[in-house]
Parts: sequence; C-alpha cells; structure tokens
Amino acid sequence: MNERLKVLDIWVDPLDRGMARSRVLSFLETGKRPHAIFASNPEKIFSVPKDPELLLAFKNADILLPDGIGMVLAARILHGCRFPRIPGSEFIFDICDIAARKGYGIFVYGAKEEVNSASVDNIRKRYPNLRIAGRANGYVSETDMPALVERINESKADILFIALGSPKQEKWFARYKDSLKYVRVCQGIGGTLDTIAGTVKRAPAIWCNLGLEWLYRLLSDPSRIKRQRLLPVFALKIILARIGWKKQ
Ligand code: UDP
Repeated sequence: MNERLKVLDIWVDPLDRGMARSRVLSFLETGKRPHAIFASNPEKIFSVPKDPELLLAFKNADILLPDGIGMVLAARILHGCRFPRIPGSEFIFDICDIAARKGYGIFVYGAKEEVNSASVDNIRKRYPNLRIAGRANGYVSETDMPALVERINESKADILFIALGSPKQEKWFARYKDSLKYVRVCQGIGGTLDTIAGTVKRAPAIWCNLGLEWLYRLLSDPSRIKRQRLLPVFALKIILARIGWKKQ
C-alpha cells in the first residue's frame, strides 16, 4: 500500500484511479465496517487543522482522494511523488460502476430534495442495473437522524454517498459510522449531486484537463472568490515549505 503523504497539516493518498477502485472493491468484498472516502484539496488545509473533530474524522479516513490539481502539484513539489488527480465528483461514478457490475446497492443522502431526487434519477439512467437502495435529502433534523440511520440500515445499502458539504459530511460519518450495519463504503461527495442533477455545471473537459477547473468555477460563480482567494495562500505555503522556511 502506498504511504499517505503529508501536505502541510493534512494528508493525501498517492493513488491512481485503478488503485483507488481496487481499494473500494476490497472494502466491499472483505470489509467488516464502513470505510470513509473523503476528498483532500487545498481548501481543507484551511479548515481541517483548525477543527479537532474534523481533523480526527479526516485523519481516520480510509481513502483521502487527491481531489484537486493543488494537492497533486503540492505532493510533487514537497515529496517528488507523481500521481493523477481523482476528483471526488468523478470518483462517485467509479463507485457506481463497480456497484452496478458487482450487484452492490447505494444510498444517496444529501442536498435539497429536488436535487437529490433529480440526481438519483440521472444516476439510474446512467446505470440501469444499479440497485438504488434508498435516498434522502440533506436537511434531516437531529431528532429525525436515528430514523434516517434506521432507513439506511433497512435498505441494506453497501455504499453510502453523503452530500452535506464539508465539514458536515465528515462529522456525520464520524458520529454515525458505528450505527451503520451494512454500509462498507461511504464517500463524502460535497456538492456533487448539484452537478449530477444539472443545477450546477461542471467545467468542460478541456478546462479539467488543463487543471483549470477551479478557474472555470470561479468565472461561472464569482461568489466562490471567498473560498478561492485561499488558493494563492496555499501555493505560497507550499513554496515556503519546500524551501524549508519556518514561522518563528
Ligand atoms: N447540504 C445539505 N445539508 C446541509 C448543508 C448542505 O444537504 O445541511 C448540501 C447542499 O445542498 C449542497 C452541498 O451540501 O448540495 C454542499 O455543497 P458545497 O459545494 O458547498 O460542498 P463542497 O463540495 O464544497 O464540500
């Protein structure tokens, strides 16, 4: 198994898609507990280390996907390690593909009701053989949470997609993982259901191939500047770490 790499104060797994898929398959075939798959990206550098509950959930994940070009370049600069980007918003389809071919069931939890329902319809169209064991929107109250967990268990889903955004989805997993009886793979997919439902557009392939998905998202939704202004800070931190500069 490739060793997890430290990038500033968080981590990333140096995997390619084939390796990540094999791990998912082994979690499904031989796992005895729910395994977490979370996205590791530059935004997390600014949120994870500050929140002890999130930090623990993130650190304990079974796969930390190299979700964005930022982590891929940072790992190359800091560790000389080369691996491709695996966006979480694409890896959901790798998992659906495995599930459809091997007969595993999925439960889709998160996003607004209409987004959840439309994205499940689109997943069903794309994978007619996939067993969709259940779905629920992401606005379930704390009081109703035990009933939701019960529904997930009754559905006997092997795979759970949680689309609550970060840090909600990581914390949800940490809190409820021990109550999940059959789930073996759980991916935190953030705002991916919005793109599957078509309410938010993903960047065209050419932008993604050039590593410029972040720029496309910024141009199509300028309010993301609040989040993306952290990217140059991330780049600077990586350069400083590379030259061995330490804060006094
Ligand atoms: N969301 C949810 N329940 C909540 C808060 C958010 O289901 O209590 C959903 C929201 O509707 C959206 C997603 O979580 O679909 C958050 O998307 P965002 O792009 O902010 O997440 P990221 O991918 O950046 O983690």
